[in-house]
Amino acid sequence: MKWLWRYTQEEHILWKDVVSAKHGIQSHWCTSLSKAPYGVGVWKHICKLWEKFSQHKHFTVGNGLHIRFWKDKWLRNTVLMDDYPSLFNLAREPDSTISQNRDGTTWSIMFRMNMQDWEFNDLIKLLQTLQSFSLNTQATDQFKWGTTGDGNYTVSAAYKQSRAFNAVTDHWPWKSIWKIKLPPKIVCFCWTALYEACLTQDNLYKRKRIIVNGCYLCHKAAESNRHLFLHCTVTAKLWNMFYSLFGLSWVMPHSIKEAYESWCCWKVDSTIKQTWKMIPAAIFWSIWRERNRRCFEGLSTPLHSLKAECLMCLYSWVNLSYVDSLDSFSNFVGSLVLA
Ligand SMILES: [Zn+2]
Repeated sequence: MKWLWRYTQEEHILWKDVVSAKHGIQSHWCTSLSKAPYGVGVWKHICKLWEKFSQHKHFTVGNGLHIRFWKDKWLRNTVLMDDYPSLFNLAREPDSTISQNRDGTTWSIMFRMNMQDWEFNDLIKLLQTLQSFSLNTQATDQFKWGTTGDGNYTVSAAYKQSRAFNAVTDHWPWKSIWKIKLPPKIVCFCWTALYEACLTQDNLYKRKRIIVNGCYLCHKAAESNRHLFLHCTVTAKLWNMFYSLFGLSWVMPHSIKEAYESWCCWKVDSTIKQTWKMIPAAIFWSIWRERNRRCFEGLSTPLHSLKAECLMCLYSWVNLSYVDSLDSFSNFVGSLVLA
């Protein structure tokens, strides 16, 4: 985005002349945006950000040489082509600038044909709106960015804007995942599971890699991330093991993200908080390993061994996360109670 900003601000400079010559000009502030499937180039990729970048643009009108009369937002907070669509359809040059629609000190809007009676009302309204506006012919038009400050682009302001409009990351439980002291490999795996992007058969089917879809654990349903990690009867037995240990009643939410968030938001004693937050990861990891054993090696683990493996995973991660505690496994399991 910084380069898009530089393009709007710098004049008579070689790099700008080169990209303008190569890509063509859309307006004074931006080159044409290439949508062709062929051709690569740094500028082509930079231009993909123009739509996002230009959402926060506004203008300070000077002599009106560079701001487009119909298509830019320069008069109040609106774009004239949206406010007066019937007049815009009659415009002789839709890309004309403000100064091209002036004649000396008066407005002289260019139309390509005579108007019908009903279109005159719109024209009168438009002229009344324009009446109060005067150009400063001594100043140049200025491109400004952002809604606060002096209108200058900064990387930090752009970062804040992109964060403010990013519904995915803002509503994503990234803190619950990345702040748990799990091995990095497990954290990445959980992240993938929360996005429901593990390569289960439904996801492989979308990539045209699987024709018949069946769960390797229960053989009763199609395999999806949600089924495998939440609703499969085998997986449910691992969840039930923890419900029994903690004496919990739990209704399994529909999505993995909801299940994970609900589990991590449960109020528990601070002594087991870290362990508590690792439990979904232990279930996901044990189930995934078991699923892969059955899929690729043709081996299946008895349920009691699978439960033990899940608890052992949890035990080893908890021990890794504490510097000086090496409780015995049986004591660890005994400590899994809600205070
Ligand atoms: Zn299943």
